Amino acid sequence: MINTDILAIGSGPAGCTAAIYGVRSGYKTIVLCGASHGGQLVKTNDMENFPGFVDPISGYEVMDRIHKQCSRLGVEFMQETAVKIETGARPFTLHCASGLQIAARAVIISVGACASRLGIESEKRFMGKGVSTCATCDGFFYKNKTACVIGGGNRAVEEAVFLTKFCKKVYLIHRRETFRAHKVSVDKARAIANLEFVLSSAVESINGDESGVKSITVRNINTKVLRDIETDGVFVAVGTRPQTDFLKDSGVELTSGGYIVVNEKTHTNIKGIFAAGDCTNSMYNQAVIAAGSGAKAAMEAVSFLNEDC
Ligand SMILES: Cc1cc2nc3c(=O)[nH]c(=O)nc-3n(C[C@H](O)[C@H](O)[C@H](O)COP(=O)(O)OP(=O)(O)OC[C@H]3O[C@@H](n4cnc5c(N)ncnc54)[C@H](O)[C@@H]3O)c2cc1C
Repeated sequence: MINTDILAIGSGPAGCTAAIYGVRSGYKTIVLCGASHGGQLVKTNDMENFPGFVDPISGYEVMDRIHKQCSRLGVEFMQETAVKIETGARPFTLHCASGLQIAARAVIISVGACASRLGIESEKRFMGKGVSTCATCDGFFYKNKTACVIGGGNRAVEEAVFLTKFCKKVYLIHRRETFRAHKVSVDKARAIANLEFVLSSAVESINGDESGVKSITVRNINTKVLRDIETDGVFVAVGTRPQTDFLKDSGVELTSGGYIVVNEKTHTNIKGIFAAGDCTNSMYNQAVIAAGSGAKAAMEAVSFLNEDC
């Protein structure tokens, strides 16, 4: 059993920022990395909306700098994944997949989110064989080929623009006429010659054979007309879902969508357990917001520990 004052579960912007505030307040602080060290941001190339960077910077580099900053300050990173948390008594007991147990006086849950799926049978069949949820990871395989991106948020637009740099043609397929993505990004995307918007269209099926994806069939939501688009790859960017499965039966209150319910001070329903970042909301999925809420959660955890002494 390892003991700590503050345990941040997750090594993305929320967990790491929480750790910076925790350790600088004089409390022993551990960050659990989970399967994706650095979180979602490491998948983005050109980030230009994080304050403090004049020129675009890769998400990987931002997270690398944050991790080095944490380490310099004395934060301890552990390559462990949480599978269960006992919340009935303090200190809380966290169980890791490896069997390790951690006793923590205060916990900040910052497990983020991961890519949602379309949920159609053919998506499952071709996942990893032409269907992907990460253009930054797999886009390179589509050099001089055709690719489709599904979705209407910032991530979908960003991935479509990214693919245009090496694909001969990219289709951005979206169910609505309007985008959730920032207008400036959509306007930039509209100006790209090899990017075609296919709007008011839902994916019916992804088609292919043993060698991979060959086409995608979409249905126009207004006219009901089907259209086949020849493509070599399909990138699904239809949102995210919180990675909170391990909290089932923990007593931590979740929404019907699995997001952690917090008040405006990042408190969960269990005293001493706080939550921050994308696992607490589906609306403001941005690194700066995750980092800000991580700082808030740590300040609340520190107040809790100061009172608990
Ligand atoms: C392709 C892409 C591009 C993006 N571009 C931008 C951008 O330009 N600007 C911007 O501001 N935002 C961008 N975002 C959004 C941004 O990355 C997220 O809002 C932000 O990373 C959320 O931070 P987080 O710390 O809440 O969660 P995450 O970054 O999701 O980190 C979650 C962490 O929790 C860990 N974890 C999960 N489950 C467990 C478990 N059971 N035990 C232990 N650890 C666990 C994971 O391994 C990970 O380390 C982008 C996202 C994507 C996917």
